[in-house]
Amino acid sequence: MAEILAPKVVVIGGGPGGYVAAIRCGQLGLDTVLVEADRLGGTCLIRGCIPSKALIHAASAFAAMADAARVPHFGVSLPAPPKLDFAATVAWKDSIVDRLNGGVAGLMKRAKVKVVQGWARFSDAKTCEVVTVSGIVTIRAEHVILATGSIPAQLPGLPMGGKVIDSAGALSLDRLPERLVVVGAGYIGLELGTVFAKLGSQVTIVEAGDRILPHHDARLTEPVRLWLEGHGVRLLLGAKVAGEKGEGLEIATADGEILVLPADAILVTAGRKPLTEGWGREAMALELAEGFAKIDDCCATSTAGVWAIGDLVGEPMLAHKASAQGEMVAEIIAGKRRRFDPAAIPAICFTEPEIVTVGLGPDAPGTVTGQFPFAANGRALSMDAGDLGGFVRVVARADRGRIVGVQAVGAHVSELAAAFTTAIEMGAVAGDIASIIHAHPTLGEAFREATLNVLGHAIHT
Ligand code: FAD
Repeated sequence: MAEILAPKVVVIGGGPGGYVAAIRCGQLGLDTVLVEADRLGGTCLIRGCIPSKALIHAASAFAAMADAARVPHFGVSLPAPPKLDFAATVAWKDSIVDRLNGGVAGLMKRAKVKVVQGWARFSDAKTCEVVTVSGIVTIRAEHVILATGSIPAQLPGLPMGGKVIDSAGALSLDRLPERLVVVGAGYIGLELGTVFAKLGSQVTIVEAGDRILPHHDARLTEPVRLWLEGHGVRLLLGAKVAGEKGEGLEIATADGEILVLPADAILVTAGRKPLTEGWGREAMALELAEGFAKIDDCCATSTAGVWAIGDLVGEPMLAHKASAQGEMVAEIIAGKRRRFDPAAIPAICFTEPEIVTVGLGPDAPGTVTGQFPFAANGRALSMDAGDLGGFVRVVARADRGRIVGVQAVGAHVSELAAAFTTAIEMGAVAGDIASIIHAHPTLGEAFREATLNVLGHAIHT
C-alpha cells in the first residue's frame, strides 16, 4: 500500500552518521524518519568496526593460547594447542553485531524516530521514494540528511567474486582460508590480515607502496612491520597486482619478478569510495568535490536544506567523525549555532601493536616533540607489552608548548586516544599534562612522561 510521509527531517542511511543524526533529531523534538536499505548500524556496526574488532579479540585469545602451548611463558603453559571452531567464532562475532543492531533499533524507538526499511531514491531535492516490503513509501521532508556512507573500492583486473572478497566477505567467511592474500596494507587490510595470521592462515600482504600504512610515519609503523614479519606474514611491498591466475593471484614484485601467489581467498582492501550514485543525486543538483559530496563547515551541501555527513563527505572516513557530524547537523536544524571545526579527530589502527594518531605529526613546522618508550613503563611491562618497540610521542608548539598532536604505538594504546584528543581539544600545553597526577601503574603515565620530555625532564628515561 502506498504511504506518504512528510516529516521535518529524513535521514538516508542508518550507519553511525545517519542513526546518530536521527537520534539527536528525535531528542530535539524534530519529527524524523530514517531510511535504511540494509540493517541499522551501517558499515561500522554490521561489516566494519565492530565485527572486525570482535574477530581481532577472538584471534588474539587463540594466538595467546597457541603460544602458551608452544612455549611456556610467565609460568603458563598448555599441554596441547587450542582448537579453533571457526564457524563458532564467526557466530560469536555475529551475536555481538546482532546485539548492537537491536540496541540501535531500541534507541530509534526511544527517540521516536520512524524507521523505513528500503532503498531511497530522490526525484527532487526533498522527495524520495522507498520501495519497502509493504509497498512504496513517498517521503517529502523539509530537511534531508544524506549519510549513504561508502563502499569498497575495486581494483581493475580483480573483480569481486569467487575467491576474491572484500572486507565484508572476509568478516563472514564460513571456513578459515589456509592461504590468504591481502591486497592493500592500509589499516583494514592489516587488521584483517593479522586476524587470519593469528588464527593460523598463511598470510601474504601485497602493497603497491613501499611501506605499510603509508599515511603514517615510518617510526610509528615499524613495530607493526616487525610484528608481521616476526609472525610469518609475508610482506610484498612495491608490488603490482595483475589479476587472478591459476591457483591464486598474479603480481609483479618490486624487482619486476612475476609471481603467482597461491590463495584460497584474495582479500582486496584497496580503500573505500563514497556512495554517491544510485539514490538520485542528479535530481537533487548536488555538487561533488573530489568525488565526495561537497559541503561547507556546517555539512550543508550545494542544495538548500540538504545536508551530508560521514564517509559520503570525505576523509577521515571514520565512524566517530560521521557521528559527530550527524549530531551537529541535527542541532543546526533545531536552530542551534554549530560548526564542524574539530582541533583533532583521533584515528586508530587495531593492528599488532595498535597505533593511535591524533592531530599534527612530528614534521609539522614550528613544533618540538617529546617521546617516551613503553619499555620504560611499568604497566606495559607488567602486561608483557614492553618489548614491542612502542612509544608515545607528543608534538607541541615550539613557542608555548601547546600540544597539537600525539601519536602512540603499543599494545592497548587505543584506550589512550581519548586522553590525547582531550588534551588537544582543551588547548593543553605540555606543562598542563605534566602537572596532572597520573595513576600508577598505567599506560597513561607514558603520555605524561612524553610531555615531560617536551619540557626536557622526563623522570624515567
Ligand atoms: P555507513 O556506515 O557506510 O552507513 C551508510 C548506510 O547507508 C548503509 O547502511 C547503507 O545501507 C545505507 N544506504 C546508503 N544509501 C542508501 C539509500 N539510498 N537508501 C537507504 N539506505 C542507504 N571506522 C572507525 O572509526 N573505527 C574502526 O575501527 C573502523 N573499522 C572499520 C573496519 C572495516 C572492515 C571497515 C570496512 C570500515 C571500518 N571503519 C572504521 C570505517 C567506518 O565503518 C565508516 O567510517 C563508518 O561506517 C561511516 O559511517 P556512515 O554513517 O558515513 O556510513
